[in-house]
Amino acid sequence: MKYEDIGFPIHDSHIHVGQCFDDFYFSPPNLIKSLKELGIMKWAVSSPTTYKNFDKARIELEELIELEPNKTMPMLWVTKYMLENSSDLSQYFVFPIFGFKIHGYSENWDCNAKPIKRVFSIARERNLPVLLHTGYKPGGPESGSYEKLISEFSDVKVILAHGRPENQTLNILKRNPNAYVDTAYISFDGLKNIYDKLGSNQIIFGSDFPLDSHYYPTESLTELYKKNIINYINVFGIEAFKQWTDSNFHKVFNLK
Ligand SMILES: [Zn+2]
Repeated sequence: MKYEDIGFPIHDSHIHVGQCFDDFYFSPPNLIKSLKELGIMKWAVSSPTTYKNFDKARIELEELIELEPNKTMPMLWVTKYMLENSSDLSQYFVFPIFGFKIHGYSENWDCNAKPIKRVFSIARERNLPVLLHTGYKPGGPESGSYEKLISEFSDVKVILAHGRPENQTLNILKRNPNAYVDTAYISFDGLKNIYDKLGSNQIIFGSDFPLDSHYYPTESLTELYKKNIINYINVFGIEAFKQWTDSNFHKVFNLK
């Protein structure tokens, strides 16, 4: 199977623009160029630039919307400062927002404290999914630390980015139908185990593009992206991948 022969549209739930690392900035035109080359139909995109400067992130996202209004789905990267500044976050709804992103490693969010519950309440009111970064200790929070929150907000859809550690993620998915795991940097064995035990219903395709540029600086980002997808299709089958990138994407983001 070749990437060009896939034959259905790819939707990506985990894309970044802007200041991805201190030494790596990915501009809106660069991002659009890559996503076009890859033929992606829709992308949920957040900007880590938000940490330093929301206004700059706002300009980046507006530029993406201007370049690709029907394909760009901005997600609001929420910081504690933003929540203190605007307790219902309404100040930041400056264009259509399709979800929230919380990175509990870059910023220390207590997984069961008031601030994060506040974000979940807003997500509930606005019917938006929340993308949560997960990691292995000490690079956490581990997915398991979020289980109480996820079950308390059982009507809020949650994507556990990277699904780490995989055994905790498996248990959360099993017990919480509102929880999903994305495919970004999750180990192949971990993903396979989740797929074997639970099938595809709670797996969503998300790449974390263009972060590969940090890990594989000498390789072509778009070629790596294609290679990954072909790998999924070879291991899990084309129907499974289609569900992750198409019907599950639509379900999580409440799209028709
Ligand atoms: Zn990410």
